[in-house]
Amino acid sequence: MRKKVIAGNWKMNKVLSEANRFVDEVKEKVPNSEQVEAIVCAPFPFLASLVEKTKGSKLKIAAQNMHFENDGAFTGEVSPVMLKDLGVTHVVLGHSERREYFAETDETVNQKTHAAFQHGLTPIVCVGETLEQREANETMGLIETQVQKALQGLSEEQVANTIIAYEPIWAIGTGKTATSEQANEVCTHIRNVVRELTSEATAEQVIIQYGGSVKPANVDELLAQSDIDGALVGGASLEVDSFLQLVEAGA
Ligand code: PGA
Repeated sequence: MRKKVIAGNWKMNKVLSEANRFVDEVKEKVPNSEQVEAIVCAPFPFLASLVEKTKGSKLKIAAQNMHFENDGAFTGEVSPVMLKDLGVTHVVLGHSERREYFAETDETVNQKTHAAFQHGLTPIVCVGETLEQREANETMGLIETQVQKALQGLSEEQVANTIIAYEPIWAIGTGKTATSEQANEVCTHIRNVVRELTSEATAEQVIIQYGGSVKPANVDELLAQSDIDGALVGGASLEVDSFLQLVEAGA
């Protein structure tokens, strides 16, 4: 049985005092269950404080991006070494907003995925199609390419430990959730792609999240699907109550 992984992606929201308050409250209330993992993906300036606050608790802290190089002349960037040193456990890679606004490609996502494993960080690799691509019937082929390229060159063990987040771009921040059947269909496809790349055992192990307008009202139905093992949540992760409801749904 795969556990459920609920990750709140705050994006570029909150200031430090709000982030601290959120985590102080949530860390006490995260269910003490092996079935669910709760992660907050926070902006870089909050990470040190949030990691410190969550020591010994079940709440994990993730970054929303990183560079693939360890150090050097990359003004404005943050390295995997820095994140690991802080005690960050996970990192979101290739979110569609980064692909769209910051020129991330399947190749850089692959480089970052390798870098994450080199430094003991768990990558949450995002894939997803635009509305135009869905309407042109390109979803399955595109997702297959994104997954293959992101995972290229990883060992089977690394693939097994990658979290893949399926986030249809047309469902992000729009209030338009994919139906649970639409979401599951693509998540099943992703698992099949992983199976072809590796093995049955690894495909059964890999965690596949759905993301795109997940909220307390639709999370149960999404998590009940055969191949959806959690959620990557933007808007509904910003409030303590709704984030906790999502985590409890996975417990
Ligand atoms: P949303 O964002 O839940 O606000 O749609 C999801 C995401 O971008 O990860």
